[in-house]
Amino acid sequence: MTISETAGTKPRANKIMLKGMLRDELKEFFGSIGEKPYRADQAFNWIYNYRVESFGAMMNMSKELRAKLDETAELNTLTLEQKQVSAIDGAAKLLFKTNGGNLIESVILPDKSRVTLCVSTQVGCPLDCKFCATGLMGYKRNLHSGEIFDQYAIAQRIYERPITNIVFMGMGEPLLNFEQTVKTLRIFSDELNKGISHKKITVSTAGIPNKIIELADTGLKSKLAFSLHSCFEDRREMIMPINKKYSLKENLEAIEYFSRKTDTWITFEYVMLKGINDRAEDIKALVKLCRRIKSKVNIIPFNSLEHMNPDGISAELQPTTREKIDKFADKLREQNISVFLRNTQGEDIDAACGQLAIKY
Ligand code: SAH
Repeated sequence: MTISETAGTKPRANKIMLKGMLRDELKEFFGSIGEKPYRADQAFNWIYNYRVESFGAMMNMSKELRAKLDETAELNTLTLEQKQVSAIDGAAKLLFKTNGGNLIESVILPDKSRVTLCVSTQVGCPLDCKFCATGLMGYKRNLHSGEIFDQYAIAQRIYERPITNIVFMGMGEPLLNFEQTVKTLRIFSDELNKGISHKKITVSTAGIPNKIIELADTGLKSKLAFSLHSCFEDRREMIMPINKKYSLKENLEAIEYFSRKTDTWITFEYVMLKGINDRAEDIKALVKLCRRIKSKVNIIPFNSLEHMNPDGISAELQPTTREKIDKFADKLREQNISVFLRNTQGEDIDAACGQLAIKY
């Protein structure tokens, strides 16, 4: 990663940002200030398990050490600017400001049995998918692992129920911020981590084949979701320009590799777009694909982009009717395909899938 990509993550007053560091990096840091390696384990516990906001709270460190940490290091990456709660379903949208002044969003999606947190991995997104509001706001920079983790830390601090799952499905393309995405997963996979397991984390991608392979090779057991949206190259290319660079064919080969290597189920995300991907031949192609790769299909009603005043193709996109979506899902189920029909959550606060965008 180049320096400019993380510009804005630089801690204030040249202090070293500890949040986002792996245990080995914490060891190195403590070594550099003349402290023993076990301090790294203690710090890991305070930062990632207790999620404290100040060095003063690190009670098993001496007063002198806490003062030294205050002088040399920093702990907080984000400030919660706004919290909106949906009156319909209790979904909550959180607006954060980074230390450099960028704005990002996370969404808390409560269910009967679980609470899923949807986090952002970039400020904006470079992919420009035609159905996605984040794409319309453009791209600013990658988020740092500390900033990705802090979305969880702060969400958990203010939310009454425990967060049980995390999806990297907010703003940005996680695999174009590969290093920091994997670092965050590694924090959750550390043997000292007592919170959410990395196995309860799903990384969603529009498809960067070499990075899908690299993710499989990390040995991590996080899940992969692939934003499929069409089984046909030309149609997919029309709504997802990234398909010109990385074809569906290449992506599916990489996904097959991921599935074999990690022995996990792949989730195919499928936003229902009227006349584009809801035809009989789309069902046929989806069935064929699901027979090839161990997977489930996550059908997502298309959420309106009207709040973004879109133009071009984006302005023409229409949702498939609810009735037709139900039939589409039934036809897949008849073929023994595992289908989830995702309910739109948080629509009244523009927190639904693909609606995350900062109105500057
Ligand atoms: N860049 C990653 C993660 C962010 S998108 C990816 O592409 O997977 C997360 C999910 O929201 C994707 O499946 C995306 O296709 C979906 N989504 C985007 N815009 C949407 C919209 N307007 N309505 C419903 N789902 C949308």
